[in-house]
Amino acid sequence: MTKISGSCLCGSVSYSGDVTVKMTMNCHCTDCRKITGAAYGTLLFMMEDELTITGDLQSYHHKSDRGSDLTKLFCGTCGSQMFTKNSVRPGGIGVRAGHVDQTDVVKPGANLFNDSAIPSTRMDPDLPLYAKLPG
Ligand SMILES: [Zn+2]
Ligand SMILES: [Zn+2]
Repeated sequence: MTKISGSCLCGSVSYSGDVTVKMTMNCHCTDCRKITGAAYGTLLFMMEDELTITGDLQSYHHKSDRGSDLTKLFCGTCGSQMFTKNSVRPGGIGVRAGHVDQTDVVKPGANLFNDSAIPSTRMDPDLPLYAKLPG
């Protein structure tokens, strides 16, 4: 188990838990670029019931290009993107890496959606690089 905690920019949303990080990905898809406003999104995936989350989370729902239901969860006060859920992974949650206190826990295992990456983004040559998703 890995201890993680974190909070949004204003501090009204926070979380902590002893979790098993199933995978960590850098995602360069257009959705991640738009929702984060950053060149790409880094997500740590785990089970939602391993986390204790407090605060005023707001949500935005949309469809993935494969038709699954996606939920973006963000702070209702400062707008920080906190978590993401996908209907294809019931009970699972993605935690955005930027607000994890334990920065050494953030160890991406792959870069996804290279097809839509900003061309100047430098990819770690030691990590697998996928045009979209693996498989
Ligand atoms: Zn906030
Ligand atoms: Zn993405």
